[in-house]
Amino acid sequence: MATVSPAERLLVELGIKDPRDIDLEAIAFSQGAYVKYRPMDRCEATIVGNDRLAIIAVNSLSIPKRQRFSIAHEIGHWLLHRNKLLFCTSKDIGGFARNAMDPERQADDFASDLLLPTFMFKPAIRRIRSLSLQALDDLSGTFEASRTATLLKVVKSNRFPIVMVRDGLDGRRWFWSSKVVSARWRIRNDIDPESFAYELLHSGGTGSTAARKVGADAWFEFRGCADEEVREQSFVSVLGEVITIVTVPESGTG
Ligand SMILES: [Zn+2]
Repeated sequence: MATVSPAERLLVELGIKDPRDIDLEAIAFSQGAYVKYRPMDRCEATIVGNDRLAIIAVNSLSIPKRQRFSIAHEIGHWLLHRNKLLFCTSKDIGGFARNAMDPERQADDFASDLLLPTFMFKPAIRRIRSLSLQALDDLSGTFEASRTATLLKVVKSNRFPIVMVRDGLDGRRWFWSSKVVSARWRIRNDIDPESFAYELLHSGGTGSTAARKVGADAWFEFRGCADEEVREQSFVSVLGEVITIVTVPESGTG
């Protein structure tokens, strides 16, 4: 049986079964944390607490999906890292740091499980045949989570042959491969300067690209990859990075 994460256990305890019922202020309140909104500079959210009570402050200038992720992230700190005063910057929240022991990463993982719990998410993706940006947006709307957070959950579901690649102006941040993509699909550690993703990254815009087929060597490096094609579609995240969904052919799975 799959292990149930602390966030999912909390939802079960509270009897929450539908994404529309994931009311974060009510969930925080049930754990002794009050949520307040105020404009903030250089910070997305903070949590101040003693043994029993905490105040979570969230940046009122951020977009609602971002605020939700931030509240969920702070509830994670409250339950996992109590008695610490934390100021979480926009890089801390939703940065999904590589090190699983990093408290910011743990709070991000908690937020992901609280907003997109597996027991609600799996049934929601069952009907999707291939992952388009439209399908991602539908899911992101259902769960009121950002495209980035939703996509990461989709990749981790290992249902589609996709790799999620995250690029910033300082280079390739990280990528995450679905387990159905075979290990020979080794991702490049730089962004192809001729790619649409590169253009989007340097445009300073907030849009997305149309899905299209490209030579696999734009994203991967292995012998013979120039002879294969992959599908790519990119969008700009709330952090201003470019996230690309790379879909490999069926022959690339297993
Ligand atoms: Zn944090």
